[in-house]
Amino acid sequence: MRIMADFHTHVVDHYDILINRKIPLIGARRHTGFFQPKNRIEEKLLKHSFLHDENTLVGIINFDDERAEKMLDVLKKIAETEGFEVIDRNYYASFKKDNSNVTFVSGQEVPTERGHVLLVGAGSNTESRDFDYVLKEAKNEKDSLILGDHVLGPGGMSLQERDIEKYAKYFDAINIWDGNFGEKYHSMQKELARGFGIPIYAASDSHTIKGILSCATILKNVDFSAENFKGSLRTSLIEVAEEDLIYGSNGFMEKYRHLSSVVYTIAGLKNGFLVRDS
Ligand SMILES: [Zn+2]
Ligand SMILES: [Zn+2]
Repeated sequence: MRIMADFHTHVVDHYDILINRKIPLIGARRHTGFFQPKNRIEEKLLKHSFLHDENTLVGIINFDDERAEKMLDVLKKIAETEGFEVIDRNYYASFKKDNSNVTFVSGQEVPTERGHVLLVGAGSNTESRDFDYVLKEAKNEKDSLILGDHVLGPGGMSLQERDIEKYAKYFDAINIWDGNFGEKYHSMQKELARGFGIPIYAASDSHTIKGILSCATILKNVDFSAENFKGSLRTSLIEVAEEDLIYGSNGFMEKYRHLSSVVYTIAGLKNGFLVRDS
């Protein structure tokens, strides 16, 4: 079975506290208001994910917040109301409509002191920012997929070659294409992954619904049962060839969304066109 997978999406930027963390009023809250009615995000997300392929897999990625868990809860409610078939496995859920399947899996992008690491299917966020600890906890305790997102990208937020070299056996895959860091880093990332024999993937790192699945990885043979889900994702990633990657773009504006979302949210709360979710 062919599955179009985008492991790295944040869906929206108004949950984002990576930059907003220290700014009062903005922390891990969902903001709703005039422009963003309640549940609208999840309804659009569900529709969008169904449209792209017969079978899709979308990682909803937390920063320090719990957007993935919150969105999964809303998605399940919507799907039940709409009469879709729902398979609920705690950290992931599948929805079936006619011949189409969508699976959402929760994850976290951890800003470690060495750079970002993407964990998929951990079941809960890690509090640690220590690279060594985060990797060992992810592998030995949480059994999450460990993905090197935007490696070799800007220092401080991206892992560099020596980080990968030291921990190569921990990584399930390295991202060689995303909508934000793609062009410039593509061949360097590819070479790095090849050099250490680490599988490759492409993902969007999208902060908008329309960017989700714009960059993706075609997987085969994913087993959606609770026992084999993560194991089968690992095996599928090993089999990914370059022609299985979708080298799309989620738009050049995506890079600036973190910043603009902060400005927008502050202005919105101040002027009353955004209100905090309860
Ligand atoms: Zn990142
Ligand atoms: Zn990200």
